[in-house]
Amino acid sequence: MLRLKCPWCGTRDELEYSYGGESHVTRPGLDASDVEWSDYLFNKENPKGIHYEQWLHKYGCGRWFNVARDTVTHEIYAVYEMGQAKPDIAMTDRD
Ligand SMILES: [Zn+2]
Repeated sequence: MLRLKCPWCGTRDELEYSYGGESHVTRPGLDASDVEWSDYLFNKENPKGIHYEQWLHKYGCGRWFNVARDTVTHEIYAVYEMGQAKPDIAMTDRD
């Protein structure tokens, strides 16, 4: 089970949270083409390694935040508030 550290409440079990999908995805404008809309709606990143994702502290403070998590080891590299820039995580100590 994952243990996530909510920026406002501290570390809690995964059961208190809801996964919200990939973070840092920009919604296309109203003048976007069908191809741009389908890419936004259906094509998501699925990396082996660092993944930037949104989590909701559903059974806590009810706030959203971002997590940088390794999809192989589930190690959490960063937890940061919505609207903050994606942190630069060095890949030097990994294969
Ligand atoms: Zn919280």
